[in-house]
Amino acid sequence: MKIIDGKQLAQNLRGEIAAGVESLKSEKGVTPGLAVILVGDNPASVSYVTAKEKACREAGMLSREIRLPAETTEAELVSLVKELNEDPAIHGILVQLPVPKHISDKAVIDAIAPEKDVDGFTPVNVGRMMIGERCFLPCTPHGIIKLIEFSGMDLKGKHAVVIGRSNIVGKPVAALLSRKETNATVTLCHTGTPDISKFTREADVVVVAAGRPNTLTGDMLKPGAVVIDVGVNRIPDATKPKGFRLVGDADFDSCSKVAGAITPVPGGVGPMTITMLLWNTLESARR
Ligand code: NAP
Repeated sequence: MKIIDGKQLAQNLRGEIAAGVESLKSEKGVTPGLAVILVGDNPASVSYVTAKEKACREAGMLSREIRLPAETTEAELVSLVKELNEDPAIHGILVQLPVPKHISDKAVIDAIAPEKDVDGFTPVNVGRMMIGERCFLPCTPHGIIKLIEFSGMDLKGKHAVVIGRSNIVGKPVAALLSRKETNATVTLCHTGTPDISKFTREADVVVVAAGRPNTLTGDMLKPGAVVIDVGVNRIPDATKPKGFRLVGDADFDSCSKVAGAITPVPGGVGPMTITMLLWNTLESARR
């Protein structure tokens, strides 16, 4: 059984990205710039944006960090996004989700210019991805494809089962896996699927993005399957300095006894999500 080391793959790709940033600076005088907006102080969001900003600076990019109070209005946030759309120093705009409940996610995402939508969340980018046009691929799904390739699996002709159908993970992963250049056969499971194990037991690859611990257990797997665990769940744990530990959506102990390869949590999908964000920001600056 192989652990698919997302940190290692992320580090390899970040080295390539940093080299790309350096040559863009020296050849064209352009420094890729990413604006990261956080509204409020949700602890998980704070830690995500801090990690994104750090990675951005380490890659030699400009990181514009914008922290707004939780009572910021939708109109104020949309107007800030529109200003950033016009700012030539900024090539990527990221609004950390979720935003507070009085602000509509959709209104904010729709305000981001598609050419600066490095998260790949705007309807224009999602549509371009679906019809195979040049676009910014959404970061987590793109990172998942890279991780499966890194595990050594050639996806062509393989059966991939995706658990979860969110707009940011499940649906786009299923779309990317079924593209002709990837050529996997895809089954998308969700809470309306009566018996998920019927499908996972036939799967060469299982991507689990349900947001619930133990959604996937070893008895649900075909021996040798590749497991990509997207879940990030905080479990209270008094023995840890922060009072919690992180677990994925797969039960690591039982799955790792049956799988051929599996991503750990943390250290699997998470580092790749940030890396693909840097990748898209560099690509945006090159364009
Ligand atoms: P989400 O929006 O809550 O969607 C979860 C999906 O899973 C839904 O489609 C839901 O079905 C389905 N689901 C839930 N429980 C299920 C079950 N027992 N059996 C089958 N399907 C089930 O979550 P998300 O945004 O996709 O995120 C999923 C997980 O990935 C979360 O833990 C999140 O924190 C993590 N995540 C990690 C990263 C990273 O970079 N590491 C990035 C994004 C997300 P219905 O549609 O029927 O409700």
